Amino acid sequence: MNEHDSERMAGVLEENGYCLASDESLEQRKIDLYVINTCAVREHAASRLYGNLGHLADWKKRNPSMQIAVGGCLAQKDRGVIIERAPWVDVVFGTNNIHMLPDLLLDAKVNGPKVSTLDKLTVFPSDVSAVRSSKFSAKVAISVGCNNLCTFCIVPHLRGKERDRNMSEISQEIEGLAADGVTEVMLLGQNVNTYGREFHDKYAFSALLEKVSDIKGIKRIRFMSPHPSGFTPDVAEVMAGRDNIMNSIHMPLQSGSDSILKRMRRGYTASKFMHILDDLRAKMPDIAVTTDIIIGFPAETDADFRATCDVVRDANFQSAFIFNYSPRPLTPAIDYPDQLPDDVKSARFKELFDLQEAITLELNKAQIGKTVEVLVTDEQGKKDAETGRISARDKQFRLIHIDNPVSSARERLMPGDYADVTVTKAAPHHLIGERK
Ligand code: SF4
Repeated sequence: MNEHDSERMAGVLEENGYCLASDESLEQRKIDLYVINTCAVREHAASRLYGNLGHLADWKKRNPSMQIAVGGCLAQKDRGVIIERAPWVDVVFGTNNIHMLPDLLLDAKVNGPKVSTLDKLTVFPSDVSAVRSSKFSAKVAISVGCNNLCTFCIVPHLRGKERDRNMSEISQEIEGLAADGVTEVMLLGQNVNTYGREFHDKYAFSALLEKVSDIKGIKRIRFMSPHPSGFTPDVAEVMAGRDNIMNSIHMPLQSGSDSILKRMRRGYTASKFMHILDDLRAKMPDIAVTTDIIIGFPAETDADFRATCDVVRDANFQSAFIFNYSPRPLTPAIDYPDQLPDDVKSARFKELFDLQEAITLELNKAQIGKTVEVLVTDEQGKKDAETGRISARDKQFRLIHIDNPVSSARERLMPGDYADVTVTKAAPHHLIGERK
C-alpha cells in the first residue's frame, strides 16, 4: 500500500510539472524536491526516518532552495514532532491528503514549513493519478483503512476505518491499465477480503475477483492481504475456477497460539486458520501460501511459541515474513505487562526462521524438473546485466532466475514477457530455470 502511495505521490507531482530526478542530479545533490514516504508499522522505520533527515540537513545547506516533504503513516503519527526535530523539513503531509502535496509545497515556499494531515479520507488515493513503477504489473487499491483493532497494530489509528471503492470504478481503472499493456494486477487493501463491508455485501470480494478476471488482457490477478477471520469459501471457489487468478495467497498467521491470537484480538484460532488452508489446498493443490508471523508478543510463553512452530510445520508455508514484536504507540499491546526481553525474542526468531528456511528449501526442491509459466519482472541486479540472467515469477510468485545470454540466437526475454521454463536448481530464496 505504501509503495502504491509513492506511485500516487509521483503522479500528482508529475501532473504539476515535476519530473523524477536523474541519477546524475541525485549524485550531485542538484534536485528541487526530496520526498520521503514513511511507514509506521515497525519501530525501525521511525529511527531510519530521523537518520535520513539528518543527512538531508547537509543537502539543504548546500542547496537551500531544495524542498523536503515527509508523507505517509509515520508523518501522520508524528505530525507535530517532525518539524520540531528536523526544522529544515518544508512539508509534512499524511496518508489522506496526497492530492494536496503540490499546493502544500507552494505554500511552504511562501510561508515557511507546513504541516497538514487529514483525519478522514476525502479523495480516494486511486482518484489521484499515478506514475507506476512497472509498465506491465500494476497495484490497484480496492479499499483503504481497516475496521479491526488488532492490539499490536497502528494502521487503523493512522489510515482510519475501511473505505471501499466502487466496483465499477475499480474495473474501469483495470480496463485502462490493460489497454496500456498491463497484464498483471495486484488488488490491494489493508484487509482486502472484507471489501464490500461498507456497502454490506459479504461476497463482494469474490464478485470483484470475477469481474476483474473477465477483463480482456489481464493474465495474472493477485491480492494482498486477506484476513483469516473474514475469509469466506466463495473466494477459494472463484480462485480455483479462474485461470488468471493466481494460485498463491499471502495470509498472515501472526501466531499459532490461540491465547496469543486472542490477546492480539485477531478473531480466529489456529484451527480455523488451518481449516482455511485445507479448503484452499483441496481446491488448488498447487497453491503457495505465504504468511506473516510476530514473535515475542507480550506474555508469549515457550508453549505458545511451540504452538506457532507446530502450525508452521503443518501449514507448509512457501515462505514467512517473521518479525520480532515491536511495541507501537497508540496500540493496547504497548501497555501489556510481560513484555519479553530481546534475547528471548531473538532466540525464538532464529529457531522459527531456521525451521521456515528448511521448509521453503524442501518446497523449492520439489519444483526441480517441473515446467512452469513465468512472467519476467523488472527485478534486475548488477550480476544479471553481466550474465544476461533475468528474474521472473511463476504463478505461485516464486522467484526464478533464468539465463538469457545476449549472444543467444533466440529472441531475448524482456521484462513483461511470459515464457515457459523448466526448473533446474533450487535455493532457499530462489529457483534457477532454463527456457524450454
Ligand atoms: S487487520 Fe489487524 S493487522 Fe491488519 S491492518 Fe487491520 S488492525 Fe492492522
